[in-house]
Amino acid sequence: MWDLIWPGECRVCEAPVAGILCHECGPLGIYRINRRITGIETAITSAPYSAPVGNAVKLAKYSRNRPLAAVLAKRFADQVSPILQNAPFNAIVPVPSHWRKRWHRGFEISALLAIELASVARRPVVHGLKSTGASNQAGIAGHQRHTTAMSRFRSRCIWRGGAVLLVDDVLTTGSTAEACAQELLGSGVSRVFLATLCAARPSETSVQIL
Ligand SMILES: [Zn+2]
Repeated sequence: MWDLIWPGECRVCEAPVAGILCHECGPLGIYRINRRITGIETAITSAPYSAPVGNAVKLAKYSRNRPLAAVLAKRFADQVSPILQNAPFNAIVPVPSHWRKRWHRGFEISALLAIELASVARRPVVHGLKSTGASNQAGIAGHQRHTTAMSRFRSRCIWRGGAVLLVDDVLTTGSTAEACAQELLGSGVSRVFLATLCAARPSETSVQIL
């Protein structure tokens, strides 16, 4: 209420705004990710992983800004809501981070995204994966990153068919999503879809579909 009476500023670009995130620095729409990711049937995102939305995500994660992460998650759900309503998945699975990162940050942005998507899609969140290693993907070369990522996740449950919407904050090489999909499909999931808040190289990988 205070923000409506006395506007603050966007935490990313410092523009005057009611709240903590302006329109330009939040998720922008729905884009299909056209890149082939093994195991993923369809992938969507809501913004390119470049300034300003990418900056907002980095700020939320690396400055441990939970309120900003929560606003990003809410806006993400609002943007992708129209195509989630009748989408053929049964559960929403966040890409997990290692417990050390979760503990350091105090929250997990993929879990916040999953909770918001669950509320608009009316499907349950299932923490069906766990991270087995703390390897930092940033700064690792592509082929090494792929090898490292493929053994980073373990399924926490046995699935009896059913489709899953995998959720993460950022898509870069796609190797993390591929590793998660492989683990889920190996545990009995029949189909895996992917939704990420933003994705790298949008001009090559994404087409706005709404
Ligand atoms: Zn802004």
